[in-house]
Amino acid sequence: MANGTDTLSPVQRSELMSRVRSKDTKPEMRVRRMVHAMGYRYRLHHGKLPGRPDMVFPERRKIIFVHGCFWHRHEDCRRNRTPKSRREFWDAKLEKNRLRDLENQSKLRASGWDVLVVWECETEEAAGLPGRIMSFLEDH
Ligand SMILES: [Zn+2]
Repeated sequence: MANGTDTLSPVQRSELMSRVRSKDTKPEMRVRRMVHAMGYRYRLHHGKLPGRPDMVFPERRKIIFVHGCFWHRHEDCRRNRTPKSRREFWDAKLEKNRLRDLENQSKLRASGWDVLVVWECETEEAAGLPGRIMSFLEDH
């Protein structure tokens, strides 16, 4: 027991930190701060729900996903461009992501949840976003 249980090598630690960081991506943090400032309470990364939703509002039966435009294939968005090299690989991979998102959303809706997707690009030009989020959360 001399060294305790939380002794990690530098490599293990930096691996761990990068995994932690990848969960708190910037667009998601922006939305979390915004929603928090609006006075709403939520749960993060609910592991028992399809797609592990980013933000869950249990009493309201509402869910917000914050999606990266590239990884989740935001339609008609300039950030969603399939890389030119290994195009088939990326097409297949990203299309799988997109279909899985749609499937998760329809599972959630089927069990009574309202779902809002906020796109990364929308968090940057945020003028209309708080209003949209509020009317989503207040709509019964
Ligand atoms: Zn976008």
